[in-house]
Amino acid sequence: MRTMTLSPTPHTATGLIAWYMRLCGFKGWTSFWRVIYVLPGYENNERLLRHEAKHLEQIERDGRLLFTVKYLWWLCRYGYLMNPYEVEARAAADQVKTD
Ligand SMILES: [Zn+2]
Repeated sequence: MRTMTLSPTPHTATGLIAWYMRLCGFKGWTSFWRVIYVLPGYENNERLLRHEAKHLEQIERDGRLLFTVKYLWWLCRYGYLMNPYEVEARAAADQVKTD
């Protein structure tokens, strides 16, 4: 069985959100209000969109509050790279399309 996750349409980040993302070094950012933002020029970056779509799935799976609490807890506990949410999102980004 193969499941297909359609990448949601990203919003191009502007203003304060673009500033915040550049400050953090993010090319893409999934907000807890469930909008995916990408920096200008990254709107068609499939890898990035798969990564952010996975975060959206995690938010829907765990709920916004639990996701935020767990994300921050894991960030302190494991750091950004080993944060289980990030590990899962990176794995999703690496998935090769089979169609
Ligand atoms: Zn991520």
